[in-house]
Amino acid sequence: MPHEYPIGVALAICFFLLISGFNVLPLLALAVLAGVLYMGLLRKGLIKNSFFAEVPSGGQVSFTDVGGQATAKNELMEAMEFIKDREAIGRLGIRPLKGILLTGPPGTGKTLLAKAAATYTDSLFFATSGSEFVEMYAGVGAQRVRSLFRQAREKAKQKNKPRAIIFIDEIEVLGVKRGAHASHMEYDQTLNQLLVEMDGLQSDDDCRLLVIAATNRVDMIDPALLRPGRFDRIVQVELPDKEGRLQILELHTRNKPLAADVRLEEIAKDTFGFSGAHLESLANEAAIMAFRQGEKAISQKHFKEAIDKVMLGEKVERKPSEQELQRIAIHETGHALVSELERPGSVAHLTIVPRGQAMGYMRQSPEHDSYMQTKTQLESQIRIAIAGAVAEELLLQERSTGAANDIQEAVKLAKRLIVCGLSELGIVDGEQSGELIGSTVRSIIAEQEQKVEQILSNYRLLLQQLASLLRHKETLSGEELRAYLHRFRTIA
Ligand code: ATP
Repeated sequence: MPHEYPIGVALAICFFLLISGFNVLPLLALAVLAGVLYMGLLRKGLIKNSFFAEVPSGGQVSFTDVGGQATAKNELMEAMEFIKDREAIGRLGIRPLKGILLTGPPGTGKTLLAKAAATYTDSLFFATSGSEFVEMYAGVGAQRVRSLFRQAREKAKQKNKPRAIIFIDEIEVLGVKRGAHASHMEYDQTLNQLLVEMDGLQSDDDCRLLVIAATNRVDMIDPALLRPGRFDRIVQVELPDKEGRLQILELHTRNKPLAADVRLEEIAKDTFGFSGAHLESLANEAAIMAFRQGEKAISQKHFKEAIDKVMLGEKVERKPSEQELQRIAIHETGHALVSELERPGSVAHLTIVPRGQAMGYMRQSPEHDSYMQTKTQLESQIRIAIAGAVAEELLLQERSTGAANDIQEAVKLAKRLIVCGLSELGIVDGEQSGELIGSTVRSIIAEQEQKVEQILSNYRLLLQQLASLLRHKETLSGEELRAYLHRFRTIA
C-alpha cells in the first residue's frame, strides 16, 4: 500500500480530533518521530517491504500456453537459449543479456511470455510493476529497486534456482525519460538506481538475474534504458492475427464443453483487433451465457453474443420508447443495408437491444485481417457510418442525436483520407489551416452522403420492410438478413 494512504488517514484523524477540541500536539510529535524512524530504516534497507511478488514458475506457464505471437515467442526462446547455456557464454565471451523489453498493446500476453520464459529457464519469477516504485519521498523508489534485486537473488538462492527473472510491468512509469517530471527528482533517482543495478549484473554471478520489462508506451522510456547492455533486446508483442486468435481461442476453450456447431475459425475471423485478454474474456463470457441458459455445452450463438458483450458491454435495462425503438431499427437497418450492398456477406449481426452505451448496433464481419486501406475502402466505410442517420432522415424526415458516434467515425475516416494524401488536397504537410481541413472533411462526407441518399432512396421499400422486421424480432443475424434480401430480390 502506498505510504500516502496511511498518512492521509492519520491527518484526517488529527484534524477531526483538533476540531473536537483535543490537544493533538503530543500525538503529532509521536507520529513525526515514528515516520522519520520508519523512513530511515527503509532507506537503509533494515526493514523490508513486500511490494514484489514472487510468482512460482514451476511448470505453470509454458510457451505452449501462449497462443499466436510466433515471432515474439521465437525471439524470446532464442534469447533464453543462450541464457541457459552458461558454458557457451563463457567460452565465446558473450556479454550477458541483462534486459529484454516486451512492447505492445495491453492484454497481448507480455506477462504470460515472461512467465513462460521463467519456466523455460527454470528461473525464479519475481514480478512487480513500475508504479510500485513511485513514491513522494526522495530515495524510497531507489531503495525499492535495490531491495528488488537483492530479494530476487536471495529468494532464488533459497529455492536453489540458478537464476531469477525480474519482471517489471508498466516500466514506463519507472523508466520515464529523465527530466520529464519537473516537480521532483525522485523519478530520476529511481531510474538511475535501476541503471546501476543492471550495469552490475555479471554472467559469473552465482545467481544470475535477467530483467524482463513490459510496456505499451516505448516512446516514453528514457533512451539510457534502451542502450546496449541494458534493455538491448526489444521484442514486439502485437495484437494476434486470425491464426493467432484461433490458437488463443483453442487454448481458452480447452477446458470447456463445446457443442457440435461451434466453429472457432468463424469467431477468430470476426474478432479482428481483439487482444489475447479480450479472447480469454470472450470464451469465459460464452461459458457464462451457456450456464445462464441452463445448457450443458457452449454453442456458436453463445460465442457470437459474447463478441458483442466484450465489444460493447453488458445488456442494459434501459427501455427506449416505442418511437425510439422504431427510429433505432431504421437507423441500424440503414447501416446494415448499405454495408451488405457495398460488400455482400459483411453484416454479422444487428440488434436494437441496448448494450453498454449503444442503443442498438450493427456488427460487421471483416473479409480478412487488413492493416491498410484504399481510398475506395475508406469512402465505403464513411458511407456505412452515415447510413444510419441518412435512413432516419429518409423515413422519419429528420435525424437524431443517435448518430453522434457515427459522425465522429465518419470525420475520423475523412481525416485519415486527408492525412494519407488521398483527398482532393493531395499530399498534405500538416501545415494546412484548420479551416481548410475542416471544409475538406465536410465536402468528403457530403459527397458520400449524397451517394447514400441515392442508394437508400432506390431501396426505400426494402429499408422500411427490413426495419419493421428488425423492430419485431429485435435481433437479426447476418444470415437472416441475407435470406430476407434474397427473397426480396427474387420477388422484385
Ligand atoms: P498488460 O499490458 O495490460 O499488462 P499483457 O500484455 O501483460 O497486458 P497478459 O497479462 O499476459 O497481457 O494477458 C492477460 C490475459 O490474457 C492472460 O492471463 C491470458 O489469459 C490472456 N492472454 C493474453 N494473450 C494471450 C496469448 N497470446 N495466449 C493465450 N492467452 C493470452
